[in-house]
Amino acid sequence: MFDVEKLRCDFPALSVLRNKKRIIFLDSAASAQKPKIILDKMNYVYQHEYANVHRGMYYFSERATELYEDSRKKIQKFINAKEVEEIIFTKGATNSINLVAYTWAEQNLTDKDNIIITRAEHHSNIVPWQIMQKRKNFKIKVAEVDDDGNLDIEYLKNLVDENTKLICCAQVSNVLGTIFPVKEITKFAHNHSIKVLVDGCQSTPHMAIDVQDLDCDFYAFSGHKIYGPTGVGVLYGKKEILENMAPFEGGGDMIKNVSFSGSTWADIPARFEAGTPMIVQAIGLGYAIDYISLIGMADVYAEDRKLLKYMQDAIEDLKDFKILGKSTNKIAVVSFVPTFTHPQDLAMILDQEGICVRTGHHCAQPLHEKFCTKSSVRASLGVYSDKNDVDALISSLHKAKKFFI
Ligand SMILES: *Cc1c(COP(=O)(O)O)cnc(C)c1O
Repeated sequence: MFDVEKLRCDFPALSVLRNKKRIIFLDSAASAQKPKIILDKMNYVYQHEYANVHRGMYYFSERATELYEDSRKKIQKFINAKEVEEIIFTKGATNSINLVAYTWAEQNLTDKDNIIITRAEHHSNIVPWQIMQKRKNFKIKVAEVDDDGNLDIEYLKNLVDENTKLICCAQVSNVLGTIFPVKEITKFAHNHSIKVLVDGCQSTPHMAIDVQDLDCDFYAFSGHKIYGPTGVGVLYGKKEILENMAPFEGGGDMIKNVSFSGSTWADIPARFEAGTPMIVQAIGLGYAIDYISLIGMADVYAEDRKLLKYMQDAIEDLKDFKILGKSTNKIAVVSFVPTFTHPQDLAMILDQEGICVRTGHHCAQPLHEKFCTKSSVRASLGVYSDKNDVDALISSLHKAKKFFI
Protein backbone atom coordinates (compact mmCIF):
# COMPACT_ATOMS: atom_id res chain seq x y z
CA MET A 1 0.00 0.00 0.00
CA PHE A 2 1.16 3.54 -0.67
CA ASP A 3 1.89 6.12 2.00
CA VAL A 4 -0.83 8.76 1.63
CA GLU A 5 0.88 11.27 3.89
CA LYS A 6 4.04 11.11 1.80
CA LEU A 7 2.09 11.27 -1.42
CA ARG A 8 0.23 14.40 -0.28
CA CYS A 9 3.55 16.29 -0.36
CA ASP A 10 3.53 15.88 -4.16
CA PHE A 11 0.50 18.17 -4.41
CA PRO A 12 1.25 21.87 -3.68
CA ALA A 13 -2.47 22.76 -3.60
CA LEU A 14 -2.98 20.60 -0.53
CA SER A 15 -0.82 22.82 1.64
CA VAL A 16 -2.58 26.06 0.72
CA LEU A 17 -3.98 27.72 3.83
CA ARG A 18 -7.30 29.49 4.13
CA ASN A 19 -8.16 31.35 7.35
CA LYS A 20 -4.95 29.81 8.70
CA LYS A 21 -6.34 26.33 8.18
CA ARG A 22 -5.34 23.91 5.48
CA ILE A 23 -7.74 23.44 2.60
CA ILE A 24 -9.74 20.21 2.71
CA PHE A 25 -10.15 19.26 -0.92
CA LEU A 26 -13.10 16.95 -1.49
CA ASP A 27 -13.95 17.74 -5.09
CA SER A 28 -11.70 15.44 -7.05
CA ALA A 29 -14.63 14.12 -9.08
CA ALA A 30 -14.93 17.57 -10.68
CA SER A 31 -11.20 17.85 -11.27
CA ALA A 32 -8.20 16.44 -9.47
CA GLN A 33 -5.29 18.44 -8.04
CA LYS A 34 -1.95 18.11 -9.83
CA PRO A 35 1.35 16.69 -8.58
CA LYS A 36 4.19 19.23 -8.85
CA ILE A 37 6.33 16.81 -10.81
CA ILE A 38 3.86 16.76 -13.71
CA LEU A 39 3.72 20.56 -13.81
CA ASP A 40 7.53 20.75 -13.69
CA LYS A 41 7.89 18.23 -16.48
CA MET A 42 5.39 20.09 -18.66
CA ASN A 43 7.24 23.30 -17.96
CA TYR A 44 10.45 21.56 -19.00
CA VAL A 45 8.90 20.48 -22.30
CA TYR A 46 7.86 24.09 -23.03
CA GLN A 47 11.37 25.33 -22.26
CA HIS A 48 13.57 22.61 -23.70
CA GLU A 49 11.71 20.25 -26.02
CA TYR A 50 8.97 22.28 -27.62
CA ALA A 51 7.87 22.70 -31.24
CA ASN A 52 4.83 21.74 -33.29
CA VAL A 53 4.41 17.99 -33.77
CA HIS A 54 4.35 15.84 -36.94
CA ARG A 55 5.73 18.69 -39.03
CA GLY A 56 9.36 19.67 -38.75
CA MET A 57 12.44 17.64 -39.63
CA TYR A 58 14.55 19.18 -36.90
CA TYR A 59 15.43 18.28 -33.32
CA PHE A 60 12.69 20.16 -31.41
CA SER A 61 9.89 18.95 -33.62
CA GLU A 62 11.11 15.40 -33.63
CA ARG A 63 11.52 15.44 -29.86
CA ALA A 64 8.04 16.92 -29.27
CA THR A 65 6.55 14.39 -31.68
CA GLU A 66 8.32 11.57 -29.89
CA LEU A 67 6.97 12.72 -26.49
CA TYR A 68 3.46 13.20 -27.89
CA GLU A 69 3.43 9.72 -29.44
CA ASP A 70 4.99 8.20 -26.30
CA SER A 71 2.07 9.57 -24.34
CA ARG A 72 -0.31 7.84 -26.73
CA LYS A 73 1.51 4.56 -26.03
CA LYS A 74 1.22 5.14 -22.28
CA ILE A 75 -2.53 5.65 -22.64
CA GLN A 76 -2.78 2.50 -24.76
CA LYS A 77 -1.11 0.55 -21.98
CA PHE A 78 -3.12 2.29 -19.25
CA ILE A 79 -6.47 1.15 -20.67
CA ASN A 80 -5.02 -1.94 -22.35
CA ALA A 81 -6.05 -1.07 -25.89
CA LYS A 82 -4.90 -3.53 -28.52
CA GLU A 83 -3.47 -0.96 -30.94
CA VAL A 84 -1.92 2.43 -30.37
CA GLU A 85 -3.89 3.90 -33.32
CA GLU A 86 -7.05 3.28 -31.31
CA ILE A 87 -6.12 6.18 -29.01
CA ILE A 88 -7.29 9.62 -30.15
CA PHE A 89 -6.34 12.79 -28.30
CA THR A 90 -9.29 15.09 -27.70
CA LYS A 91 -9.93 18.19 -25.60
CA GLY A 92 -11.64 16.09 -22.95
CA ALA A 93 -14.36 13.51 -22.46
CA THR A 94 -17.07 15.90 -23.62
CA ASN A 95 -15.18 16.43 -26.85
CA SER A 96 -14.65 12.64 -27.18
CA ILE A 97 -18.37 11.91 -26.89
CA ASN A 98 -19.25 14.70 -29.31
CA LEU A 99 -16.74 13.25 -31.74
CA VAL A 100 -18.62 9.94 -31.74
CA ALA A 101 -21.97 11.73 -32.06
CA TYR A 102 -20.82 13.88 -35.00
CA THR A 103 -19.07 11.04 -36.81
CA TRP A 104 -20.26 7.54 -36.04
CA ALA A 105 -23.83 8.50 -35.09
CA GLU A 106 -24.21 11.03 -37.91
CA GLN A 107 -22.91 8.49 -40.41
CA ASN A 108 -24.74 5.40 -39.16
CA LEU A 109 -28.06 6.33 -37.54
CA THR A 110 -31.34 6.95 -39.32
CA ASP A 111 -34.85 7.91 -38.21
CA LYS A 112 -35.68 4.21 -37.83
CA ASP A 113 -33.01 3.68 -35.21
CA ASN A 114 -32.83 4.19 -31.49
CA ILE A 115 -30.07 4.53 -28.95
CA ILE A 116 -30.11 3.89 -25.20
CA ILE A 117 -28.58 6.14 -22.57
CA THR A 118 -29.00 5.88 -18.80
CA ARG A 119 -30.61 8.26 -16.33
CA ALA A 120 -27.30 8.44 -14.49
CA GLU A 121 -25.37 9.98 -17.38
CA HIS A 122 -23.46 13.22 -17.08
CA HIS A 123 -24.98 15.90 -19.33
CA SER A 124 -22.07 15.42 -21.68
CA ASN A 125 -23.34 11.90 -22.41
CA ILE A 126 -26.91 13.15 -22.92
CA VAL A 127 -26.85 16.46 -24.76
CA PRO A 128 -24.60 15.49 -27.71
CA TRP A 129 -27.11 12.72 -28.47
CA GLN A 130 -30.01 15.15 -28.27
CA ILE A 131 -28.25 17.53 -30.66
CA MET A 132 -27.57 14.74 -33.14
CA GLN A 133 -31.13 13.49 -32.68
CA LYS A 134 -32.36 16.82 -34.12
CA ARG A 135 -30.39 16.10 -37.29
CA LYS A 136 -31.02 12.38 -37.67
CA ASN A 137 -34.32 11.85 -35.90
CA PHE A 138 -33.40 8.66 -34.10
CA LYS A 139 -35.09 7.83 -30.82
CA ILE A 140 -33.37 8.12 -27.43
CA LYS A 141 -34.47 5.62 -24.77
CA VAL A 142 -33.52 5.95 -21.12
CA ALA A 143 -32.43 3.10 -18.86
CA GLU A 144 -33.29 3.60 -15.19
CA VAL A 145 -31.43 3.27 -11.91
CA ASP A 146 -33.06 1.87 -8.78
CA ASP A 147 -33.31 3.57 -5.38
CA ASP A 148 -29.92 2.22 -4.33
CA GLY A 149 -28.37 3.80 -7.40
CA ASN A 150 -27.76 0.53 -9.24
CA LEU A 151 -28.52 0.29 -12.93
CA ASP A 152 -31.71 -1.67 -13.62
CA ILE A 153 -30.12 -4.05 -16.07
CA GLU A 154 -33.31 -5.98 -16.85
CA TYR A 155 -35.07 -2.71 -17.64
CA LEU A 156 -32.24 -1.79 -19.98
CA LYS A 157 -32.39 -5.16 -21.73
CA ASN A 158 -36.12 -4.71 -22.25
CA LEU A 159 -35.54 -1.38 -24.01
CA VAL A 160 -33.53 -3.10 -26.72
CA ASP A 161 -35.21 -3.88 -30.03
CA GLU A 162 -33.97 -4.69 -33.53
CA ASN A 163 -33.47 -0.97 -34.26
CA THR A 164 -31.25 -0.28 -31.25
CA LYS A 165 -27.82 0.73 -32.52
CA LEU A 166 -25.95 2.17 -29.59
CA ILE A 167 -25.86 2.04 -25.78
CA CYS A 168 -24.10 4.85 -23.90
CA CYS A 169 -23.27 4.25 -20.27
CA ALA A 170 -20.96 5.68 -17.64
CA GLN A 171 -18.69 3.12 -16.05
CA VAL A 172 -19.05 5.02 -12.77
CA SER A 173 -21.70 7.63 -11.94
CA ASN A 174 -20.25 11.04 -11.04
CA VAL A 175 -23.07 11.55 -8.51
CA LEU A 176 -23.75 8.13 -7.02
CA GLY A 177 -20.28 6.66 -7.34
CA THR A 178 -21.92 3.42 -8.47
CA ILE A 179 -19.89 1.16 -10.72
CA PHE A 180 -22.17 0.08 -13.56
CA PRO A 181 -21.85 -3.39 -15.14
CA VAL A 182 -20.55 -2.21 -18.51
CA LYS A 183 -18.95 -5.54 -19.33
CA GLU A 184 -22.28 -7.30 -18.96
CA ILE A 185 -23.98 -4.57 -20.99
CA THR A 186 -21.42 -4.87 -23.76
CA LYS A 187 -21.78 -8.63 -23.93
CA PHE A 188 -25.54 -8.34 -24.19
CA ALA A 189 -25.31 -5.46 -26.68
CA HIS A 190 -22.95 -7.31 -28.99
CA ASN A 191 -25.28 -10.30 -29.07
CA HIS A 192 -27.75 -7.86 -30.61
CA SER A 193 -25.21 -6.12 -32.89
CA ILE A 194 -25.37 -2.95 -30.81
CA LYS A 195 -22.34 -0.73 -30.25
CA VAL A 196 -21.41 0.46 -26.76
CA LEU A 197 -19.85 3.75 -25.69
CA VAL A 198 -18.47 3.85 -22.16
CA ASP A 199 -17.90 7.12 -20.31
CA GLY A 200 -14.85 6.41 -18.19
CA CYS A 201 -14.42 9.86 -16.59
CA GLN A 202 -15.07 8.67 -13.04
CA SER A 203 -13.67 5.16 -13.31
CA THR A 204 -10.20 6.01 -14.72
CA PRO A 205 -9.12 7.85 -11.53
CA HIS A 206 -10.13 4.99 -9.25
CA MET A 207 -9.67 1.60 -10.87
CA ALA A 208 -7.67 -0.34 -13.46
CA ILE A 209 -9.22 -0.23 -16.93
CA ASP A 210 -9.06 -2.92 -19.59
CA VAL A 211 -10.98 -1.95 -22.72
CA GLN A 212 -10.28 -5.31 -24.34
CA ASP A 213 -11.82 -7.09 -21.39
CA LEU A 214 -14.79 -4.70 -21.32
CA ASP A 215 -14.97 -5.16 -25.09
CA CYS A 216 -16.65 -1.73 -25.48
CA ASP A 217 -16.53 -0.05 -28.89
CA PHE A 218 -15.77 3.45 -27.62
CA TYR A 219 -14.30 4.63 -24.33
CA ALA A 220 -14.01 8.29 -23.33
CA PHE A 221 -12.19 9.96 -20.44
CA SER A 222 -10.58 13.25 -19.38
CA GLY A 223 -6.98 13.95 -18.40
CA HIS A 224 -7.75 16.49 -15.69
CA LYS A 225 -9.62 13.96 -13.54
CA ILE A 226 -6.63 11.62 -13.40
CA TYR A 227 -4.20 14.26 -12.07
CA GLY A 228 -3.21 15.44 -15.54
CA PRO A 229 -3.63 18.89 -17.10
CA THR A 230 -6.87 20.41 -18.38
CA GLY A 231 -7.56 20.61 -22.08
CA VAL A 232 -6.80 17.01 -22.97
CA GLY A 233 -8.82 13.82 -23.02
CA VAL A 234 -9.01 10.55 -24.84
CA LEU A 235 -11.31 8.73 -27.16
CA TYR A 236 -10.59 5.05 -27.55
CA GLY A 237 -12.35 3.33 -30.43
CA LYS A 238 -11.97 -0.12 -31.90
CA LYS A 239 -9.72 0.05 -34.92
CA GLU A 240 -12.17 -1.37 -37.45
CA ILE A 241 -14.82 1.11 -36.35
CA LEU A 242 -12.54 4.17 -36.38
CA GLU A 243 -11.15 3.20 -39.76
CA ASN A 244 -14.65 3.34 -41.21
CA MET A 245 -15.48 6.72 -39.73
CA ALA A 246 -15.14 9.95 -41.71
CA PRO A 247 -13.50 12.86 -39.87
CA PHE A 248 -15.14 15.15 -37.33
CA GLU A 249 -13.15 18.32 -38.01
CA GLY A 250 -11.10 19.26 -41.05
CA GLY A 251 -7.76 21.00 -41.04
CA GLY A 252 -4.05 20.36 -40.96
CA ASP A 253 -2.58 16.98 -40.08
CA MET A 254 -5.78 15.01 -40.72
CA ILE A 255 -5.41 14.65 -44.48
CA LYS A 256 -3.46 12.53 -46.93
CA ASN A 257 -3.89 14.87 -49.89
CA VAL A 258 -5.65 18.18 -50.35
CA SER A 259 -6.69 19.50 -53.73
CA PHE A 260 -9.61 21.58 -54.98
CA SER A 261 -11.03 18.52 -56.70
CA GLY A 262 -11.28 16.82 -53.31
CA SER A 263 -9.18 15.73 -50.36
CA THR A 264 -8.40 12.37 -48.82
CA TRP A 265 -8.18 11.57 -45.14
CA ALA A 266 -5.19 10.51 -43.13
CA ASP A 267 -5.17 7.13 -41.40
CA ILE A 268 -6.32 6.88 -37.78
CA PRO A 269 -5.60 8.39 -35.30
CA ALA A 270 -4.40 11.50 -37.22
CA ARG A 271 -7.73 11.63 -39.10
CA PHE A 272 -9.41 12.73 -35.87
CA GLU A 273 -6.73 15.13 -34.68
CA ALA A 274 -7.15 18.12 -36.98
CA GLY A 275 -4.96 21.15 -36.44
CA THR A 276 -2.21 21.70 -33.91
CA PRO A 277 -3.14 19.48 -31.01
CA MET A 278 -2.86 20.25 -27.30
CA ILE A 279 0.76 19.11 -27.48
CA VAL A 280 2.06 19.73 -23.98
CA GLN A 281 -1.19 18.76 -22.29
CA ALA A 282 -1.15 15.45 -24.15
CA ILE A 283 2.43 14.88 -23.02
CA GLY A 284 1.41 15.89 -19.49
CA LEU A 285 -1.38 13.31 -19.55
CA GLY A 286 1.29 10.69 -20.23
CA TYR A 287 3.21 11.94 -17.19
CA ALA A 288 0.03 11.73 -15.10
CA ILE A 289 -0.40 8.14 -16.19
CA ASP A 290 3.20 7.43 -15.19
CA TYR A 291 2.40 8.96 -11.81
CA ILE A 292 -0.70 6.93 -10.95
CA SER A 293 0.63 3.78 -12.53
CA LEU A 294 3.57 3.99 -10.18
CA ILE A 295 1.17 4.08 -7.22
CA GLY A 296 -0.70 1.19 -8.83
CA MET A 297 -4.38 1.22 -9.71
CA ALA A 298 -5.10 -1.90 -7.65
CA ASP A 299 -3.83 -0.14 -4.52
CA VAL A 300 -5.62 3.07 -5.44
CA TYR A 301 -8.87 1.12 -5.70
CA ALA A 302 -8.34 -0.73 -2.41
CA GLU A 303 -7.52 2.47 -0.46
CA ASP A 304 -10.40 4.26 -2.10
CA ARG A 305 -12.90 1.61 -1.00
CA LYS A 306 -11.66 1.74 2.59
CA LEU A 307 -11.92 5.51 2.84
CA LEU A 308 -15.29 5.49 1.10
CA LYS A 309 -16.71 3.16 3.72
CA TYR A 310 -15.26 5.31 6.49
CA MET A 311 -16.78 8.47 4.99
CA GLN A 312 -20.16 7.04 4.05
CA ASP A 313 -20.65 5.39 7.44
CA ALA A 314 -19.73 8.62 9.21
CA ILE A 315 -22.18 10.70 7.13
CA GLU A 316 -24.86 8.12 7.76
CA ASP A 317 -24.20 8.16 11.51
CA LEU A 318 -24.78 11.91 11.59
CA LYS A 319 -28.39 11.31 10.50
CA ASP A 320 -30.14 14.22 8.79
CA PHE A 321 -28.20 13.70 5.57
CA LYS A 322 -29.84 11.65 2.86
CA ILE A 323 -27.22 9.83 0.81
CA LEU A 324 -28.02 9.44 -2.90
CA GLY A 325 -27.31 5.88 -3.94
CA LYS A 326 -25.97 3.39 -1.47
CA SER A 327 -24.89 0.63 -3.77
CA THR A 328 -22.32 -1.71 -2.25
CA ASN A 329 -20.45 -1.45 -5.53
CA LYS A 330 -19.11 2.08 -5.67
CA ILE A 331 -16.04 4.27 -5.62
CA ALA A 332 -15.35 7.18 -3.31
CA VAL A 333 -18.02 9.63 -4.38
CA VAL A 334 -20.79 10.42 -1.90
CA SER A 335 -23.61 12.84 -2.71
CA PHE A 336 -26.04 13.78 0.02
CA VAL A 337 -28.90 16.15 0.74
CA PRO A 338 -29.26 17.75 4.18
CA THR A 339 -32.78 17.33 5.52
CA PHE A 340 -32.64 20.64 7.44
CA THR A 341 -31.45 23.17 4.87
CA HIS A 342 -30.67 23.77 1.23
CA PRO A 343 -27.44 22.16 -0.08
CA GLN A 344 -26.22 25.64 -1.13
CA ASP A 345 -26.46 26.95 2.44
CA LEU A 346 -24.65 23.92 3.74
CA ALA A 347 -21.85 24.34 1.18
CA MET A 348 -21.42 27.99 2.23
CA ILE A 349 -20.86 26.92 5.81
CA LEU A 350 -18.45 24.19 4.70
CA ASP A 351 -16.52 26.72 2.62
CA GLN A 352 -15.97 28.88 5.69
CA GLU A 353 -14.33 25.84 7.24
CA GLY A 354 -12.04 25.51 4.23
CA ILE A 355 -13.87 22.48 2.89
CA CYS A 356 -14.17 22.21 -0.88
CA VAL A 357 -17.19 20.18 -1.94
CA ARG A 358 -19.32 20.43 -5.03
CA THR A 359 -22.90 21.65 -4.71
CA GLY A 360 -25.61 21.59 -7.35
CA HIS A 361 -26.78 19.01 -9.84
CA HIS A 362 -23.22 17.98 -10.86
CA CYS A 363 -24.24 18.02 -14.54
CA ALA A 364 -26.76 15.26 -13.87
CA GLN A 365 -30.19 16.86 -13.62
CA PRO A 366 -32.22 13.81 -14.75
CA LEU A 367 -30.57 11.73 -12.05
CA HIS A 368 -31.38 14.28 -9.34
CA GLU A 369 -34.97 14.29 -10.56
CA LYS A 370 -35.12 10.58 -9.80
CA PHE A 371 -34.09 11.29 -6.21
CA CYS A 372 -36.68 14.10 -5.99
CA THR A 373 -34.17 16.88 -5.49
CA LYS A 374 -32.66 19.59 -7.63
CA SER A 375 -29.25 19.52 -6.02
CA SER A 376 -26.97 17.77 -3.59
CA VAL A 377 -23.62 18.19 -1.88
CA ARG A 378 -20.92 15.90 -3.21
CA ALA A 379 -17.75 14.83 -1.44
CA SER A 380 -15.35 12.95 -3.67
CA LEU A 381 -11.92 11.58 -2.91
CA GLY A 382 -8.63 11.32 -4.76
CA VAL A 383 -5.39 9.41 -4.17
CA TYR A 384 -4.27 12.16 -1.77
CA SER A 385 -7.43 12.08 0.39
CA ASP A 386 -6.95 10.88 3.93
CA LYS A 387 -8.86 10.30 7.16
CA ASN A 388 -8.15 13.87 8.28
CA ASP A 389 -10.05 15.17 5.27
CA VAL A 390 -13.03 12.99 6.07
CA ASP A 391 -12.91 13.86 9.78
CA ALA A 392 -12.83 17.57 8.94
CA LEU A 393 -15.89 17.15 6.72
CA ILE A 394 -17.78 15.22 9.35
CA SER A 395 -17.02 17.69 12.13
CA SER A 396 -18.12 20.58 9.88
CA LEU A 397 -21.32 18.77 8.94
CA HIS A 398 -21.91 18.30 12.63
CA LYS A 399 -21.38 22.02 13.27
CA ALA A 400 -23.68 22.96 10.41
CA LYS A 401 -26.36 20.70 11.76
CA LYS A 402 -26.15 22.36 15.16
CA PHE A 403 -26.29 25.77 13.50
CA PHE A 404 -29.49 25.00 11.61
CA ILE A 405 -31.39 22.74 13.94
C1 LIG B 1 -16.48 15.10 -15.80
C2 LIG B 1 -17.34 14.16 -16.50
C3 LIG B 1 -17.62 14.29 -17.86
C4 LIG B 1 -17.17 15.46 -18.67
O1 LIG B 1 -15.80 15.56 -18.68
P1 LIG B 1 -15.10 16.91 -19.18
O2 LIG B 1 -13.71 16.75 -18.72
O3 LIG B 1 -15.83 18.04 -18.51
O4 LIG B 1 -15.23 16.95 -20.66
C5 LIG B 1 -18.40 13.33 -18.44
N1 LIG B 1 -18.86 12.29 -17.76
C6 LIG B 1 -18.61 12.12 -16.46
C7 LIG B 1 -19.14 10.91 -15.76
C8 LIG B 1 -17.85 13.05 -15.78
O5 LIG B 1 -17.61 12.88 -14.49
